[in-house]
Amino acid sequence: MVKASDAVELTKELVRMNTINPPGQEERCARHLGALLERAGFEASYHSLGEGRASLIATRGNGSSKLPLCFTGHIDTVPLGVARWRMDPFAAETDSGKLYGRGASDMKCGVAAFSVAAMRMARSLPSSCALSLVITAGEETGCEGAFRLYRDGRLGKAGAVVVAEPSSNYPLVGHKGVLWLKATTHGVSAHGSMPREGINAVYRAAHAVTRLEQFRFSNPPHALMGQATLNVGTLHGGLNINSVPDQAEIGIDIRTVPTVDHAELIRLLASELGPEVDLQTLLNLNAVYTEAREPWIQSVFELMAPILGETPVPRVATYFSDAAALNRAYGDPPTVILGPGEAHMAHQTDEYCVLEKVEKSVAGYEEIIGRWCQS
Ligand SMILES: [Zn+2]
Repeated sequence: MVKASDAVELTKELVRMNTINPPGQEERCARHLGALLERAGFEASYHSLGEGRASLIATRGNGSSKLPLCFTGHIDTVPLGVARWRMDPFAAETDSGKLYGRGASDMKCGVAAFSVAAMRMARSLPSSCALSLVITAGEETGCEGAFRLYRDGRLGKAGAVVVAEPSSNYPLVGHKGVLWLKATTHGVSAHGSMPREGINAVYRAAHAVTRLEQFRFSNPPHALMGQATLNVGTLHGGLNINSVPDQAEIGIDIRTVPTVDHAELIRLLASELGPEVDLQTLLNLNAVYTEAREPWIQSVFELMAPILGETPVPRVATYFSDAAALNRAYGDPPTVILGPGEAHMAHQTDEYCVLEKVEKSVAGYEEIIGRWCQS
């Protein structure tokens, strides 16, 4: 029998496995969770993302009465950063109600909590009620694991999605999309003393950067997310001071809202920047958003209210998640971002999660599963 407090124990076990990405090495973590879930009656399948790396999909129930309810989370973490940690990032030590370690909040506690809730509920659920746990590798470097599952057709179906990213147990109804583009300009190299003999790719890039700075989105802003944003994050050009550079690259980070059509935006930027600029898409994830009045979201708000001690109002997350990749396969079912981790602790030195929130999230997830299977 799995106890609610086991979510804390399971979080510790996961934190003790170093899954810093790169290189990831998530397979051990995935196998550990898979073995536990199999013992509770789930079917586990592993999907490789390279040497020592794997995502896990664990399913139970036949889904004959209703599409599966999906819980998703990633098991890779970001690197430790340059600042010194006060706590050992892989010891999973607890102090004053907090559990410390890399990935504690983002998001091993979330994965542990929904896995424990699913295991606890599994025995009492009718076989017609299906659950699908999608536990991914390679999220932190651009949702590679989730995209691989999508491209390989491994995701099956889902009628609703819970993304256990850190939200302090506050249910969030979506997040912005992201479009990372690389703009490259080309020129003709020449000796720096004879610039007229060449074509300067950096000047072309500078013109492009100015046009990007002046770019304004024409879509209507979104009620909760506001307007899309565009930022030039990098600009590289030239190899040495005494040559006319023949290539320059601009890194563009666009955060979109549901009213932006990504394909149309790429076409628009390409025409604004003109034929001297080549645009390449590095990452393309749509915004995730469900109206708060959607009945399943309403039911999640309602059941989380006593756990939170307040009635949730519609809010969105600042980060993006694997849901953007998953929802391509699932056809945008209602999606909530709900996890016990602390969003402000994600990617921080001395990252921690709060033990009480981990245990409360298990109760919340169990209620979500129970209601899904009753209705
Ligand atoms: Zn995360």
